Amino acid sequence: MAYQSVNPNDGKLLKSFEHMSAAQLERALAQAQTCFETWRHKSYAERAVIVNKAAALLHAHIDDFARLETVEMGKRIDEARGEVRFSGDILAYYAKHAESFLAPVKLHPKTGKAHVESSPTGVLFCVEPWNFPYYQLARVAGAQLMAGNVLVVKHAGCVPQCAIAFEGLLRDAGAPAGTYTNLLISYEQSDGVIDDPRIKGVALTGSVAAGRSVAARAGQNLKKSTMELGGSDAFIVLDDADLDKTIPWAVWGRMYNGGQTCCAAKRFIVLDSIADRFLARFKTALEALKPGDPMDEKTTQGPLSTEAALVQLLAQVDAAVKGGAKLLMGGKRIARPGSFMQPTILTDIQPGNPAFRDEFFGPVVSFYRVKSEDEAIALANDSDFGLGGSVWTQDEARGQRLAGRIDTGMMFVNNIDWADAELPFGGIKNSGYGRELGHMGIQEFVNKKLVRSGHIAAPV
Ligand code: NAP
Repeated sequence: MAYQSVNPNDGKLLKSFEHMSAAQLERALAQAQTCFETWRHKSYAERAVIVNKAAALLHAHIDDFARLETVEMGKRIDEARGEVRFSGDILAYYAKHAESFLAPVKLHPKTGKAHVESSPTGVLFCVEPWNFPYYQLARVAGAQLMAGNVLVVKHAGCVPQCAIAFEGLLRDAGAPAGTYTNLLISYEQSDGVIDDPRIKGVALTGSVAAGRSVAARAGQNLKKSTMELGGSDAFIVLDDADLDKTIPWAVWGRMYNGGQTCCAAKRFIVLDSIADRFLARFKTALEALKPGDPMDEKTTQGPLSTEAALVQLLAQVDAAVKGGAKLLMGGKRIARPGSFMQPTILTDIQPGNPAFRDEFFGPVVSFYRVKSEDEAIALANDSDFGLGGSVWTQDEARGQRLAGRIDTGMMFVNNIDWADAELPFGGIKNSGYGRELGHMGIQEFVNKKLVRSGHIAAPV
């Protein structure tokens, strides 16, 4: 079965869906193209009515949307509610600001007048991951629909109900048919969509492997793409860090969303003089987590998204240990139904160990002890990824100086408060290219058209 909704809390199959037929897919693309021809000419105010309505519906039905993702991919219910609320905020943010973000920009040539105007480019194809089943969709939908583009979206195989719910949200908000279309399609069909001349851009959030495949296909077709890929963010603890403030963020940074966040804190790089104290307190805090039904408010650790994700993570931990890493805690599945993994800490990870370079997408801490700030920076930068990272110190200026030397798309000092509609999100290196959110996200798929006017004498 192509798309399967399985509750990772107990392994029960909830629903399954077949791939669309070729004829259904063709109808969806044709409808999107037709829709674009009218949507592109609507005013910002007209588009904002629909996008604001979608935001309001999300805000009005937080529990319904949240429950669906909790049963489909195991997100703890309070985190799910937060995601739904934030997704609504993102839609409302773009409804409010799109017109000013895309306003014509006056230029000052030596002769005549000139400006750059932003116009929509067409139907965009989005490929999205399961870890934030609504937020990922809101990031592209808010910006791109307000910019005048329309979307066809392939969501992840394990969250078909959330994918369908989001499509329904836009329909209920009054979006014309073809504005936002969910595609239940295979990889082969996805390749065909990228090749289709009606598609004018491709946005993917997902793994490096998916990014390579989809970006290559878009490249062959000379289509603009944005790639939001994985990460292995450093959490750098300096010798003067306030551990009372740092430890709760370390736990949240690694364990939020079951540890399945691209910009989660994954490599904990701690100065030697504070390392023992940090590690002891971090371990105690992780041991205190209570695994359980993610629908239960008292649960502090939910399952991983799927059984396959758990099996892969356990294999990665085994490979790390075989490669010489030490297991300070955890490393096994939790003895209960569902796809639960013990919070895990790996230490003594040397270069050459697969764990040194790979992304752990779940509750696994990679712990490194370093002698100096320079060593911390070198280790943080010795990564194929470049998504985010954080620095912890009581000297904010020192933290900012250090942040300036880390090669990533985002850095945080004394917080890892990633999520804000206003703040651009994205990475470099294998973490991808392009940005979503903020004033930058809406610029990715618009035509920046130069218009120069005024009678200028022809050269003779
Ligand atoms: P994934 O396997 O790459 O899946 C992501 C999406 O890509 C899914 O819809 C998947 O479809 C699709 N896909 C995969 N290969 C494809 C192909 N060859 N052609 C067309 N579609 C393809 O990623 P994941 O493991 O589910 O998600 C976790 C990854 O996403 C992590 O690496 C994480 O760091 C990254 N992520 C990045 C960000 C960011 O903003 N930078 C945000 C969230 C997650 P199926 O589900 O049907 O396979």
